Amino acid sequence: MEYKTTDKSAAAPLLVLVVPVFNEEAVIEKSAKVLSDKVKSLAEKQTVSKGSRILFVNDGSTDNTLRIIHGLCERDPVFSVVNFAANRGHQNAILAGMMTAKGTADIVVTIDADLQQDIEAIDLFIEKYTEGCEVVYGVRNDRHSDGLAKKFTASSYYNLMKLLGADIIPNHADYRLVSSKVLDALSEYREVNLFLRGLIPNMGFRSGIVYFDVKEREAGTSKYTFKKMMRLAMDGITSFSTRPLHLIGLLGFFVVIFGIIMSIVCLVDWINGRNIPGYTTLLIVLLISTGATLLSLGVIGEYIAKIYMETKHRPPYIIDSVVWQDPAGKQGEKTSDGDE
Ligand code: UDP
Ligand code: MG
Repeated sequence: MEYKTTDKSAAAPLLVLVVPVFNEEAVIEKSAKVLSDKVKSLAEKQTVSKGSRILFVNDGSTDNTLRIIHGLCERDPVFSVVNFAANRGHQNAILAGMMTAKGTADIVVTIDADLQQDIEAIDLFIEKYTEGCEVVYGVRNDRHSDGLAKKFTASSYYNLMKLLGADIIPNHADYRLVSSKVLDALSEYREVNLFLRGLIPNMGFRSGIVYFDVKEREAGTSKYTFKKMMRLAMDGITSFSTRPLHLIGLLGFFVVIFGIIMSIVCLVDWINGRNIPGYTTLLIVLLISTGATLLSLGVIGEYIAKIYMETKHRPPYIIDSVVWQDPAGKQGEKTSDGDE
């Protein structure tokens, strides 16, 4: 692996816009036009380099989406496409796009195909990148386009995640810029259930936030079914936090303490002759054994948590930059490549 000492002021970065698509035939033509106009105008202003492009990731669409994209690719070399054999979900589609762009792109911006996210924010993303950020999160200004129920579930979810110890950015979906450095680091992760919204902040690279307005979907309907949303929420919790497992042990501990207190109370009652026959024994046995069971489960949980984290084969550290010099060599010669 090569670590770059990126000189962000030097040349315009090569941008790859990664767009996951699943059954988006209703909107894809329009999105393609809007997005390619955007990329071309950025290239004209020399904000991004001439080789900048749009990469669709077709997530196993069953409608005409792929055919339309192939048509677009034939007409304009600004478009490319990665086609999944079957539907693997939004997160995997984004990951595939980023890994395909790795090696070519200086920066990747991931954006939905339905044009809900304000594309003008991309200029600000790049500005932040030039200022030194390796990650720029798009954060929605407010949730006025969502119903009360979605607002409530979203905020409860962020709070729950925080409580469970996962570091996620509130109101940030997957509209973000990442630099080539982040792409390199991301390729070191071997886990199958990648929850990017948790993983990327967890890496610790310098990051910035850009606020944007959310619009209504241009056409078509939401491809995020309730089931898919629940799956994502569960993935977020289980792939980042082993706290639920630790909580079992904690619960067991409190039940045992409670059992001991109740036992003392019951014994005092028994000595004073204020008991129903059999009640004391039953309560003591019940509380102590429940506590002991939970506590044992908790111990097992601790080991499972360890095994679980180990099986992910996460890189133990992420390097941001290196200066590694050869004192016998020429002055200023470094192994890290400053020039791209
Ligand atoms: N998407 C995908 N695979 C899926 C579901 C969605 O690639 O299984 C894409 C979809 O085409 C869109 C983006 O992910 O470009 C976000 O989906 P959508 O706009 O339907 O979600 P919402 O904005 O309603 O949360
Ligand atoms: Mg959408």
